[in-house]
Amino acid sequence: MAVKRRTRQREAILGVIEGSDGPLSVGEVHELAGREIPGLGIATVYRNIKLLKEEGVIVAVELPGEEPRYEPDGRGHHHHFRCRNCERTFDLEECPVGIPDGTTLPGGYRVEGHSLTLYGRCTNCPE
Ligand SMILES: [Zn+2]
Ligand SMILES: [Zn+2]
Repeated sequence: MAVKRRTRQREAILGVIEGSDGPLSVGEVHELAGREIPGLGIATVYRNIKLLKEEGVIVAVELPGEEPRYEPDGRGHHHHFRCRNCERTFDLEECPVGIPDGTTLPGGYRVEGHSLTLYGRCTNCPE
């Protein structure tokens, strides 16, 4: 029985991370997975997230000054949009950076990659 419950918890936690439209904090995972698993403890969420990360199933997303968030591994190149009002973070579908890798910038700087987070208001948070 205990094993069955552990499996259900893990599946619920992974399910909300995979089903999200952006990386989730431990608190957000706890809230969403808790709707499926009444009584789900925050320590259980921490433990499962740690394991899923060690197994390479999920990866941490670190925004400056924020607690880590988690998303499935292998999402490919993408960026995040952080809503300053509701404090949720969303995946952006398109890369807004018009500087392909390999570009040489004035001054001779050769671009090999970039990272970017945009801040503003999401569609749930009209002015
Ligand atoms: Zn918002
Ligand atoms: Zn990009």
